[in-house]
Amino acid sequence: MAPHPDDEVLGSGGAIVTLLAAGVAVHTVCLTAGEASHGTGDPGAMARLAERRRAGLTSVLRALGRLPDAVHAHLPDTGLDQHEETARAVTAEALTRTGATLCLAPWEGDLHGDHEAAGRAATNTRARAGRSPTKPTRSRTCARSPGTTTPTSPSLSTSGAPALARLCHLPA
Ligand SMILES: [Zn+2]
Repeated sequence: MAPHPDDEVLGSGGAIVTLLAAGVAVHTVCLTAGEASHGTGDPGAMARLAERRRAGLTSVLRALGRLPDAVHAHLPDTGLDQHEETARAVTAEALTRTGATLCLAPWEGDLHGDHEAAGRAATNTRARAGRSPTKPTRSRTCARSPGTTTPTSPSLSTSGAPALARLCHLPA
């Protein structure tokens, strides 16, 4: 689950490649187009940026491996906290449709509001499925950038670094 195009590769690129190599199908949900990353004063520029970032996401998924196109929720960049229920519903639909058993999402304690909202939506998706969230996992890459979460799995994690991501095991 990527709040913006680029979070999938910055946060989960290594995990995606590892999962694909293990024969695991990977699907991507992108909640916004990241259209507000360079300001909100020019709607035309924002629309062009959104198109460019969505195309970039498609290119990244092709480069990572055999990945289907991302599901785009078209929610507003920098406004996910006002659309968490929709983010949760879009994510839940994708998880159900794909039969996913694992969801990589940003940590709710990230310093970016959209990342925090995406993390809460992922956690709420799991809670509504009747499971409590697992404890946040840890990753050595957390100090790289406070605005970039790094979803990880226990097998990929190291100890001693602040928690970055929440690992949600979903019902089979
Ligand atoms: Zn982001």
